[in-house]
Amino acid sequence: MIQRLSLLALLAAVTLTGCSPDVPGTEGLEQITIVLFEGADRELVEDIAEGVQGVYGVPVSVADGEPLPLPTEALDETRGQYLAATLRDGLPAPADEHDRTLGLTEADLYARKLNFVFGQAQLPGDRAVMSLARLRPEFWGHNEPDRDLLLERAVKIAVHELGHTFGLRHCDTPGCIMQFANVLLQLDQTNLEFCSDCHAKLGR
Ligand SMILES: [Zn+2]
Ligand SMILES: [Zn+2]
Repeated sequence: MIQRLSLLALLAAVTLTGCSPDVPGTEGLEQITIVLFEGADRELVEDIAEGVQGVYGVPVSVADGEPLPLPTEALDETRGQYLAATLRDGLPAPADEHDRTLGLTEADLYARKLNFVFGQAQLPGDRAVMSLARLRPEFWGHNEPDRDLLLERAVKIAVHELGHTFGLRHCDTPGCIMQFANVLLQLDQTNLEFCSDCHAKLGR
């Protein structure tokens, strides 16, 4: 109870001073698992996993077994899109609370009040989901497929969404991977790294 009260006092202090709340960071993180939804290409996702591993410095693996079916209750037939939060919250939780699960789908995702999202994370939490659909140059109709560009974008989104699960919010520092990006031009201009502030919050 004492602990609970002091936490509440801390939260109140944070609210009053306007500082950003403390973030849980990556302490205790040992494993990130990417879970495929049906239709995702395992070979491509293994390359994405390798890219994410290079940033977080812990093993990132692609879950064995059959890909998950897309939950029909998440589908908005008029939009032809799936509600990201339903996919995200239906993912298997990692065995250890410090670890993370990232779902990956080819389906186009949306969120309430947003036309689409590249991904969506629990903030903080242990699960996030991302879509490759709009990261593909050919999605936009006038470009050729480009695997390297797709891979680069996908690793950025994965790192960004996982950053949210560790409590990071959007960051205004130019180039920081935690900058909000809802168009590919912005995404392509961000770096695959955290700014020094975000890096410090992650505790890495
Ligand atoms: Zn974000
Ligand atoms: Zn930052």
